[in-house]
Amino acid sequence: MSAKILLIDPLATNRITFGFKLRKAHYVVTSVACLDELHADYGNLHWDLILLGAQDSVEIDRIKADKSLNKLPIIAIYDQDIPFDRLALLKAGADEVLAKPIGEKVLLAKIRSLLRMTHSAKELRLREDTNRILGFHEAPSGYAARPKCVIISDTPRKQSFLAERLADIRNISFQWMTRNDFYALGDDVASGDCFILCLAEHTPRTSINLLLEMRSNIETRHCAILVAAIEDATHSAMDALDLGANDVLLTSFSAQEVEHRITAQIQHKKTNDRLRESVQAGLDAALNDPLTGLYNRRYAMTHLNHCVENARDGRSDLAVILVDLDHFKVINDTYGHTVGDTVLVNVAQRLKEAVRASDMIARIGGEEFMILLVDTPPAIAQTLADRLCRVIASTVLPDIAHPITASMGLRSFLPQAQDTSPQELFNQADTALYQAKSNGRNQVAAFIPTSMIAPTVTVQRS
Ligand code: GH3
Ligand code: MG
Ligand code: MG
Repeated sequence: MSAKILLIDPLATNRITFGFKLRKAHYVVTSVACLDELHADYGNLHWDLILLGAQDSVEIDRIKADKSLNKLPIIAIYDQDIPFDRLALLKAGADEVLAKPIGEKVLLAKIRSLLRMTHSAKELRLREDTNRILGFHEAPSGYAARPKCVIISDTPRKQSFLAERLADIRNISFQWMTRNDFYALGDDVASGDCFILCLAEHTPRTSINLLLEMRSNIETRHCAILVAAIEDATHSAMDALDLGANDVLLTSFSAQEVEHRITAQIQHKKTNDRLRESVQAGLDAALNDPLTGLYNRRYAMTHLNHCVENARDGRSDLAVILVDLDHFKVINDTYGHTVGDTVLVNVAQRLKEAVRASDMIARIGGEEFMILLVDTPPAIAQTLADRLCRVIASTVLPDIAHPITASMGLRSFLPQAQDTSPQELFNQADTALYQAKSNGRNQVAAFIPTSMIAPTVTVQRS
């Protein structure tokens, strides 16, 4: 779907020229002379970006004060003949400031870059909102170290136009290195919140290749990457923007503008890091049980489906063990819920320690657990289940006299029983568990399909 651009410009000729360029690039354009006209005529429309022509920072202040517009990226356009304070426009909240005449390539590359950045931030924000609604949101830590910016330049520092522009910036630490230095780091890639790639004057492609590598490297793909270029290399710089650079620093920029742009990108990166962490925390919360840290039922059932499919394809063994603590209600009633929780955490820990890392263990109910043993033949699964039973029965917790034991139902998935569904396997393990309970608890019962051996369930006293 085409992005929607709001073009605000008091001059009709500008609205026509820019409107034509944008429509030619397949954007949907709404053009108005001023904000008041916008609200009168287009109450409920939504846009993705604002192109603001021939205005001063007051108009940006009005946009930023408008709830329906203040999250949109703004490109401010001004006439080179009229003395405009670029920095004031940036500080007021413009994401980019371009002087006319603007080449189509520059304009469209800037638009694409800003749309990409705001779309990814918007998506993260939406997911964070959903997490919050679901109660999964965790406030990220307020840790704020001094940002670090790594400058990768093959031009000696003294000859680089950047050196003098950065000289007075105190709140960011800068580290200079050549492309070779950077590559020499290998996997131990330079850590930084922000990278500035200085485009090599005669071989800009080499710097662009490095940009592409950084965007595909797990350590650097979310970093802010700016490209520094002399005015003559503007076209290469715009290519870099399309290939994943966040911003471009040109020789014509003042020291203050350079500082503003670097700081804005570091800020943007930090906001996205925070959103990403919070989305990850939500994912963890969606799959883990908060009390024991084990996987939860939702994850366990999905993983069971996956393991059955895998076992079927590879004709490998799989075993499902359901564990239910015995008379747990008595423990709760006698010692209180908090002590009951301590028992659950302790049992979870013991189970976790007793299985291999490749086996999955989940808490699927109050005092119920599920263990999936991959590549495990029935006899070994039986031995392990018996051992788990003994491990739990040996639990000794201070001040708890009541024995802590569990009953277990075991169902081995045999390669010959190809047609058993994951849900059937689960139900059959549950049937075996029920049998272990009726047989006196603190023991394992295994479900054996009637087609193989009668009776249905064999019992092993631990
Ligand atoms: P059985 O041997 O037949 O399994 O008896 P039981 O007492 O273990 O089984 P029952 O289903 O009667 O009781 C389970 C108890 O587990 C009741 C419930 O209050 C308790 N429970 C469920 N979730 C939690 C929890 O998160 N923390 C604590 N402390 N108790 C829980
Ligand atoms: Mg139970
Ligand atoms: Mg129980």
